[in-house]
Amino acid sequence: MIAIDLGIILMIYVSGPLLVIGLAALFYSLRAKHRPMRARENIYECSHCSHVYAFARNRPMDRCPRCGNLNEAVRS
Ligand SMILES: [Zn+2]
Repeated sequence: MIAIDLGIILMIYVSGPLLVIGLAALFYSLRAKHRPMRARENIYECSHCSHVYAFARNRPMDRCPRCGNLNEAVRS
């Protein structure tokens, strides 16, 4: 039988799940950075000329490219 120190058993018992959780956190943070461009776009509908447009900038309001009217994001 192989004699293993109690300290080594405890270290493996504690660091195993910690390593798994750390790798999962790394994976999800990397995945969140590489979201597709469509998911980052805000969609606006112009209240003046009803033109629908999208911008990837994170602004609550943006100008309509057709008439210049300021509009709130419909979906962000
Ligand atoms: Zn417009």
